[in-house]
Amino acid sequence: MTTKSDMLKHDILIIGGGPIGLSSAYYLLKAGRKVTILDSNEIGKGSGSGNAGHIVPSHIIPLAAPGVVTSALKWMFSPSTSPFGLKIRLDPKYIAWLIQFAAACNEANVDRALEPMKNLGQLSADNFAKMIEDENFDCHYQTTGFLNLYKNQAAFDEGKHEAEFMQEHGIPVRVYEKNQIAGVEPAVRNDVLGGVHFTGDAHLNPAVFLKLLGERIRAMGAEVHEHTPVTGFAVSEGKVRAVRTASGEFEAEQVILAAGAWSSIVARDLQINIPVQPARGYSLTASAIQNMPRQALILGDRRVAVSPFGNHIRVTGRLEVGEFSTTPKPIWIQRLEGFAREYIRLDEKLDIKETWAGLRPVTPDGVPIIGRSPIHSNLMIAAGHAMLGLSLAPGTGQVVAELMNGEKTAFDLSPFGVERF
Ligand SMILES: Cc1cc2nc3c(=O)[nH]c(=O)nc-3n(C[C@H](O)[C@H](O)[C@H](O)COP(=O)(O)OP(=O)(O)OC[C@H]3O[C@@H](n4cnc5c(N)ncnc54)[C@H](O)[C@@H]3O)c2cc1C
Repeated sequence: MTTKSDMLKHDILIIGGGPIGLSSAYYLLKAGRKVTILDSNEIGKGSGSGNAGHIVPSHIIPLAAPGVVTSALKWMFSPSTSPFGLKIRLDPKYIAWLIQFAAACNEANVDRALEPMKNLGQLSADNFAKMIEDENFDCHYQTTGFLNLYKNQAAFDEGKHEAEFMQEHGIPVRVYEKNQIAGVEPAVRNDVLGGVHFTGDAHLNPAVFLKLLGERIRAMGAEVHEHTPVTGFAVSEGKVRAVRTASGEFEAEQVILAAGAWSSIVARDLQINIPVQPARGYSLTASAIQNMPRQALILGDRRVAVSPFGNHIRVTGRLEVGEFSTTPKPIWIQRLEGFAREYIRLDEKLDIKETWAGLRPVTPDGVPIIGRSPIHSNLMIAAGHAMLGLSLAPGTGQVVAELMNGEKTAFDLSPFGVERF
């Protein structure tokens, strides 16, 4: 089929309209570039919309860290309460990814990641504040921090230890003991032992934010093609000549691959290794409850997140590595509600408005991939942001735009290069 797009040469073509693709579009449009977005679904509706909405510059430790494999193995013996699951798939790339991930769970990986993650996280947090103010986005943005709650002394002690580590790295944090916690968060149950509060963090309603960002970039002139999955590429002489879709080929000067957990599938005929695997999670969104939490919460031992969004409350959790389906499992939705009840005073019956599943795009070292393809002069990759794809989006968008415009980037991007794999 021949379409108008066959004849037009686009300036910058972005594959994927999630937080990363939309933020990249925003900063490129601000810099005067012309942007076209292709999405297999609708923009802003992928894995970003139903997430917890946490903006967490405090999260400078990557997913691949010491103790993660041991905890995962331990949790697998309690499948009905485990925050973690693992899909068995006999795909050589997936198996290689699992081995690489396990091998990266060490101090050296954390040491390598700390500074780059801190740079990206802080730039993103600053950019969220500026973008929301400049664009007047009404998306329940709250700078009330991120509070970890604990019901188990060993986990609380570990949380305090982590708080000291974070403080040493310049992250603002406060520890509240049992006699203080209800004053800070009146929604907690009496048996909560205390909390660790990352006071520089924030949260927002991601579905509303992404909707507003999508509308804004359209108004700035972005050409958006929804329900247009990318099926392949025409490559010659080290350049992506065209991007193939069922509705025709799109030619562009520059291409950005920002297809989240699907990035490695989209890039399958590009001859580059983009080791990104999905980690599925779930959320339920209900009408506001009587005792709405004051801030974004993490329920320590359960690893469940709770986010208050104005008239709604959202509970999210579970990390199922290797799962590509985005159909929520009712049993896990029920369990998430049960875990939230253990920590906060939910109403007797929740008025559930939405249940959801999404995919975190995870690299083997837990650090995103941001940079040029080593073998295609006009291809850039921005994927693999794991549990932080919303939090790190405006920072990623800014540095992607700087790279595309041949400018000096806000910080050194070499730790994010795909060549490391
Ligand atoms: C339960 C849960 C809670 C989370 N909580 C948080 C949180 O609090 N804070 C945070 O920062 N992050 C959170 N995350 C992670 C965050 O949602 C992801 O990291 C983020 O969505 C990744 O953004 P992305 O733009 O890279 O990918 P996505 O959001 O997945 O967007 C990728 C886009 O690419 C499109 N696409 C796929 N294939 C193709 C193709 N062939 N052609 C064209 N388009 C294609 C998709 O339709 C999609 O729109 C959470 C995730 C889950 C699952």
